[in-house]
Amino acid sequence: MNDHPLRRLPKVDVLLGHPRVQALVDRYSRRRVTQAVRRFLDHLRQQVLHEGAAVPEQDQLLEQLEHHVEKQCRNPLRVVINATGVLLHTGLGRSPLASAAVQALAHCGAHYASVELDLETGRRSQRVLAVSSLLEELTGAEAAVVVNNNAGATLITLAALARGREVVVSRGQLVEIGGSFRLPEVMEVSGARLREVGTTNKTRLSDYQRAIGPRTAALLRVHTSNFRIVGFTQEVPLDELVALGRRYQLPVIDDIGSGVLVPLEVPELEQEPVASRSVAQGADLVLFSGDKLLGGPQCGIIVGRRCWVQRIARHPLMRALRVDKLTLSALAATLELYLDMEQAREQLPLLRMLHAPLETLRRRAQRLARRLQQQVPALEPRAVRDVGYFGGGSVPTQQLPTWCVALSPREGSLARLAWALRTGEMPVVARVQKERLLLDLRTVFPNQDHTLADAVARAWQRIAPQGEEQ
Ligand SMILES: *Cc1c(COP(=O)(O)O)cnc(C)c1O
Repeated sequence: MNDHPLRRLPKVDVLLGHPRVQALVDRYSRRRVTQAVRRFLDHLRQQVLHEGAAVPEQDQLLEQLEHHVEKQCRNPLRVVINATGVLLHTGLGRSPLASAAVQALAHCGAHYASVELDLETGRRSQRVLAVSSLLEELTGAEAAVVVNNNAGATLITLAALARGREVVVSRGQLVEIGGSFRLPEVMEVSGARLREVGTTNKTRLSDYQRAIGPRTAALLRVHTSNFRIVGFTQEVPLDELVALGRRYQLPVIDDIGSGVLVPLEVPELEQEPVASRSVAQGADLVLFSGDKLLGGPQCGIIVGRRCWVQRIARHPLMRALRVDKLTLSALAATLELYLDMEQAREQLPLLRMLHAPLETLRRRAQRLARRLQQQVPALEPRAVRDVGYFGGGSVPTQQLPTWCVALSPREGSLARLAWALRTGEMPVVARVQKERLLLDLRTVFPNQDHTLADAVARAWQRIAPQGEEQ
């Protein structure tokens, strides 16, 4: 009985007294760590009793325990280093915010705020007043309203304008965005009926015209931002669609998706629709996301003619899709930056990354590669030129030249290295490309370069085959 394997199982109190566990207690509280330690020991006991497992040596046991406690206690939503090169990665929360926006939302969040109160009159006011005048000024529209996201903007717009009636849309624009947003399904939920016209690659003005009848409520154009049909194609330009709408007194809705607010003068973005341009061309309603190319918090922005915007603002769905003070304050601070384009370019992280000169990225990649050659030579780190993407349902066919550090682990360990990078103290998400892992520096903040190097070294330490750490 004396050498029963369970006798080697440490006691809860002994483990809690160990400095490595004490560090976890400091981070997460004694109560939570004690509970996690108990669960860990229970699980280990079962394994020893029923699966004939041995109790690991102390170092290994502590390592497993730490991993278990972290997994139990840590918030699954973590800050990560985005080394994918995808500027607007939906899985990574799309756009990082400008520090002015972060300060605004922290300040508003910690206090009460005049979300629906006109301080001048003391009366109840509209929730989006904080941002509507900024949006009107920047886009030239008569009115603006903000909802939870652009899918919500589409839903409420169609529900308010076209419930029980028809919306004419080109077949080539019925897109699925990001795997879960299918425009036809959202339209169905809104109660509007789709009237598809044209073919996948060609739609003419006469196709729209023929579809217009007594049941028609609106004409819709959708920017097919996440795919592009090339070659033998034809789309109707917005101004022609607007002219047709005017002739039949039908509102024209322009869902531009990625939402460049004002012209940015970036060659890679030339193909992207611009909200202010759509308004100038006469679209009655323009819809776009706040957290794509705009660089703000998640929201859906609707700008356009006052009569239609008011109808949307009064729709019952507004109560379900409205934004809170955090979004409003962050959006207002982001929009304020756009009042001075130089300021916007300097202070919006997204625009800074977009404008980062290739030469700067090359220098950073070479520096990082040299450092990693010292720390993890087995991964054969090399600076390489490659292309990144905007992502997030914007301009996927538009490639962005960039510089990366390529890591080439031995056959079979690529997925394991990617895993170790994702699950480290500072998670790193990299781009997997054939037999190598790329760390794309365009989406890594320059002040993260050191942290990134350390994260790679530690990830490799965790998984390197014995004797191959160097
Ligand atoms: C991204 C996108 C949407 C969905 O926007 P969310 O803000 O993600 O809800 C809708 N329409 C178009 C054209 C888009 O590109």
